[in-house]
Amino acid sequence: MFESLKKKFSRTSDKLEEELIEEAQEENNLEEESGKKFSFFSFGKKDKKEEDDFESDVAEIPQEVESIHEEAEETSDDKDEKSGFWSFGKKSDDDNKEPLEEEESAEEIQEEEEPKKSHFWSRNKEEDAEESEEADEKTEEKKSRFWSRSNDEDSEEDEEDEPGGMFSFITAKTISEKHLEDILWELEMGLLEGDVAMEVASAVVDSVKDDLVGRKIKRSNDITEYTYNALRNAVAEIIDIPGKSMTEMIEAKKAQGEPLVVMFVGINGTGKTTTIGKLANYYLKKGYTPVIAAADTFRAGAIEQVNYHADNVGVKLIKHQKGSDPAAVAFDAVEHAKAQGKELVLIDTAGRMQTNTNLMDEMKKIKRVAKPDLVVFVGDALTGNDATHQASKFNEAIDIDGVILTKADADSKGGASLSIGYVIKKPILFLGMGQGYDDIREYDADWMLNQLFSESGEEVTVDEV
Ligand code: GDP
Ligand code: GDP
Repeated sequence: MFESLKKKFSRTSDKLEEELIEEAQEENNLEEESGKKFSFFSFGKKDKKEEDDFESDVAEIPQEVESIHEEAEETSDDKDEKSGFWSFGKKSDDDNKEPLEEEESAEEIQEEEEPKKSHFWSRNKEEDAEESEEADEKTEEKKSRFWSRSNDEDSEEDEEDEPGGMFSFITAKTISEKHLEDILWELEMGLLEGDVAMEVASAVVDSVKDDLVGRKIKRSNDITEYTYNALRNAVAEIIDIPGKSMTEMIEAKKAQGEPLVVMFVGINGTGKTTTIGKLANYYLKKGYTPVIAAADTFRAGAIEQVNYHADNVGVKLIKHQKGSDPAAVAFDAVEHAKAQGKELVLIDTAGRMQTNTNLMDEMKKIKRVAKPDLVVFVGDALTGNDATHQASKFNEAIDIDGVILTKADADSKGGASLSIGYVIKKPILFLGMGQGYDDIREYDADWMLNQLFSESGEEVTVDEV
């Protein structure tokens, strides 16, 4: 996922490093460090399932943990160029470096959610759950290794002695606006090309600039570190739209003895019906009883299509004849759920272009009649800016509450995933991750951040190593 965005982020860092080194060379302000190059990589959090599904090429790596681990030192020189950027996010004791909240929150997440899913690089194969517990107890210094350190450099190694990079500036350099001008312009263009919305690209660039200008640089590797952190923080702010999860909302309604009513809108072909099937399956597995309303009475075959998913998943479908009033179908489904004590109503509606006034009016009527608790826009991540644009239009017409982006599994650009929530100020609720019923995941900004700021292919997480 998001390979092209990752490249752009990495390139920004490389360029700035090149620029400052070149300038320092001209000023005779550079000395090569005797210390070795970086020999560690860091990795974002990634669970086993995604690895299996989307990066089967790395799935073999866990078996080779030991050998790779031993070789890591030797191969490090080859990898430095590529992986330098992704190896940051670490908290160091540098005196001109401020603590970074992002790293802390990421560390918390790892500890809270997946204490046993250790990172290949941050933990030795032989080190078992004990080590994990120990790690939990240890404080900042140890935690910071999550992002950055190869496991063999265990706590004995003094931060001061750790490899600082290839060059030191004899007199510290300060990053100026001038240094960043071309680089950030290139980043902005790159983001726009990657279907990131204009306002999001500008926000990222402004934030990175604010963060970096004035930073004092002692060693060339600091540049990568600061750039990594600046980009990560910028993106973190953009993708973190506050909101409750659908599961929390189901629970809240359940406590009142009512079903959560969710109405799905969007254009045809985005994966709306499949998504409804996936959500029915997801919540069925969580122990709830969903019911689906076949309120797309407009399109030929739509009732059969949603019927097919309902049957496959094993949930009740409420349907009328083709051409009947979709609002009535939605209403009946809500009544059915109330009568039967079902916790979730999923209303399929006809796909429509945001420009089709009749269908947009019909959609408003469904909303008026069925009184959904949530109106969810389903968009296709692969359509990039179009998805963001459609979401804005639907939001203006009907006031949507959240977004589901489908086909994120196939999305190398990541433009819609990065932009859509920020542009309409509504959270992404789920990401569609494939064609099967299980291929859906609740959106989690920290997970997303780790997808964007970990180098795929070198990122290995194994269960219970
Ligand atoms: P609808 O017209 O919006 O209801 O679209 P469908 O639900 O029929 O989906 C259209 C196509 O997209 C189907 O072939 C789905 O299997 C596929 N699809 C839906 N969601 C995803 C997803 O998350 N990932 C991938 N790769 N394909 C998906
Ligand atoms: P189940 O046995 O739990 O699947 O539910 P039933 O089929 O017995 O229906 C329960 C309630 O939902 C009944 O009161 C029906 O009025 C309503 N219902 C079920 N299917 C439909 C349908 O296709 N259309 C409408 N309007 N109501 C339905």
